[in-house]
Amino acid sequence: MNKDPGIMCFRHCSTKSVFCKQIPTTCPACSSQMQNFITDPFRIPYPLVNAAHSPTSIVIRPSCGSFLDDYDATHDLHVGIVDSNGSVVEFDKTGLIVNDVARWIDCVAFKVVPIAWTIRWDETLCLMSRDVKWKSINYDEIHMNCFNFVLEFFNNLRYADLRFTNKEDLCERLILSKIQTAIRYSSLYRVLKNQEYLISDYIALPTNNIV
Ligand SMILES: [Zn+2]
Repeated sequence: MNKDPGIMCFRHCSTKSVFCKQIPTTCPACSSQMQNFITDPFRIPYPLVNAAHSPTSIVIRPSCGSFLDDYDATHDLHVGIVDSNGSVVEFDKTGLIVNDVARWIDCVAFKVVPIAWTIRWDETLCLMSRDVKWKSINYDEIHMNCFNFVLEFFNNLRYADLRFTNKEDLCERLILSKIQTAIRYSSLYRVLKNQEYLISDYIALPTNNIV
């Protein structure tokens, strides 16, 4: 079970969007009874998933805590690779860890290869899992961490232009854009922990993923 708090959005009277967990009977923006909406209430898609349900993907979570409650841009991220069976492989100070599922139930996951590449994806991961390079003794918080593992994975996979010169390149081109939705959702979630509504100038539409 993920922790989807069920954040809703609607637009009643102005250009302002209202974000909330429960649709009120009175509009927070104009204080009148609501019968018709400019944009009908819709649920904002929850951006976090369980890694076990995201086969053949890259997964990201904060090194400590959760995206929803704790993460901010100064925190470290942790990244792993999911095989076609939904098993997560990650590299950290204890070496390679396979299927620490409880720590990956609310992560950002994204696919980067088409289905035709599934076998190659699993083979590449399997080969790397047997490489003594990924023993705990070789771990270094800065120079040899989870991002090095994923960097080498992509460079071994050789799919299209998914090759990266270093970790900075990997983060800039692939990782950071994927977590933006989760970061925006989390800030909205934290605002709505302390207040019933958030009234925003942003014009949200049901087709938007997020505020
Ligand atoms: Zn209104």
